[in-house]
Amino acid sequence: MTSTAFNPNIHFPYPYTDIHPDSIIQTSDEVLFHVHRDRLQTRSRTAFDGLFTDNSTVGLNRSLVVFLVPEDATVMNCVLHILYGTSSRIYCPDFETIAQAFETLQKYGCRLSECIPQDSEIFTDLVCHAAEPNTDALKVYTLAASHDFEELAVQCSYYALRIPISRIDEGSSIMMGPLYLLRLLRLHASRRAALHRLLMEPPERHEDTPFCNWRRQIGTTRAYGLIAGYLTWEAPADASATWITTAFERVIQCVECPRCQINLWARVLGVIRGWNDVKKTI
Ligand SMILES: [Zn+2]
Repeated sequence: MTSTAFNPNIHFPYPYTDIHPDSIIQTSDEVLFHVHRDRLQTRSRTAFDGLFTDNSTVGLNRSLVVFLVPEDATVMNCVLHILYGTSSRIYCPDFETIAQAFETLQKYGCRLSECIPQDSEIFTDLVCHAAEPNTDALKVYTLAASHDFEELAVQCSYYALRIPISRIDEGSSIMMGPLYLLRLLRLHASRRAALHRLLMEPPERHEDTPFCNWRRQIGTTRAYGLIAGYLTWEAPADASATWITTAFERVIQCVECPRCQINLWARVLGVIRGWNDVKKTI
């Protein structure tokens, strides 16, 4: 069977538009992929793991040389789309396929950072996958980290904060390696410390009025401090602005003095502004 995406009858992307494929790759499930040897070798630091010079893998299909690879067609299809810089979205490669494709690319001497630019579809799709609330963002971070794919690890690190430190399992820790684990732990710690600093600043006070003197304002500041203390203790490193605001909202609504309310809101907005500016990635 011949691949529908890589056969002699399709239009290859630039600069191979008018150049016929010169080699065929046959996968373990006997699918034939027509490719340009030049494209594969130039993307690799090991001449594609010496595939094209290994006589033991050579066969013939009409006039073209066939090279046998142990990967299956689904993975090789994903690998070749990456190497040619074309979209594989119509095949909807799942996370496991992409993970195997990354493994395969490394095996053939291709650096992921060089083959997968940040504006490519597969990069964007992986970041979007990590950003989805119901996915395991740590898996994407771990995948990127395990291949030292710095750009992807950085972009996914914020979403990986969704998984508390206590739930980072041993297998993921080993896979991502000590450096990326340390960077993720530091991100958790630095963001929580930054939120703590922001919350520690009390709201401003106003001058005494017939309805609100310094004693009542001390009570207001204490109420703020209680919520701030609760947030310092409970807030995750990726706490949302809405979550922080909601926590203060109930207290502010119970404050009778409008000027105290204004000061409290000003402080909460200050916290949110500061929180948005805190570094989000490793
Ligand atoms: Zn007041």
